[in-house]
Amino acid sequence: MTSVFTRIVRGEIPAFKLYEDDLTLSFLDINPAARGHALVIAKPELPGLLDLPPELVSAVALTTQRVARAIVNALKPDGFNVIQNNGAAAGQVVFHYHVHIIPRWEGDRSVKLWRPGTASADDLRAVADEIRAHMQE
Ligand code: 5GP
Repeated sequence: MTSVFTRIVRGEIPAFKLYEDDLTLSFLDINPAARGHALVIAKPELPGLLDLPPELVSAVALTTQRVARAIVNALKPDGFNVIQNNGAAAGQVVFHYHVHIIPRWEGDRSVKLWRPGTASADDLRAVADEIRAHMQE
């Protein structure tokens, strides 16, 4: 299936583009959480972070920094969030790898990512052990 972002890459549907190179494209989100909310996509249609080869991880990260710098210089926000959703449970709607850059202004309350919980040192040690056991995969 062709994603809506592939159709933007191909020029089949319009977008307000900010930056483009061989591997990445950045354009404004059509339903922005804030003025200047931008997306950075990998041009190849791969669903999530774990599907990307290293050169695409790097390319998207570099474009994200480039676009974020332009947003900061242009719009002078107080800060910005870089958000990347993987899987429907994490809020991913378009299954074509992309990063959100959302400018933030003091008190705007436009993004709330998680509710802080609590964990004992034993809980943290146990989960760290579980994750470290898979670090070489
Ligand atoms: P996700 O929840 O998958 O991380 O975010 C997908 C984002 O893509 C949403 O914020 C949504 O507004 C944006 N989006 C979906 N369709 C289009 C489109 O056709 N054009 C643009 N510019 N953004 C889109």
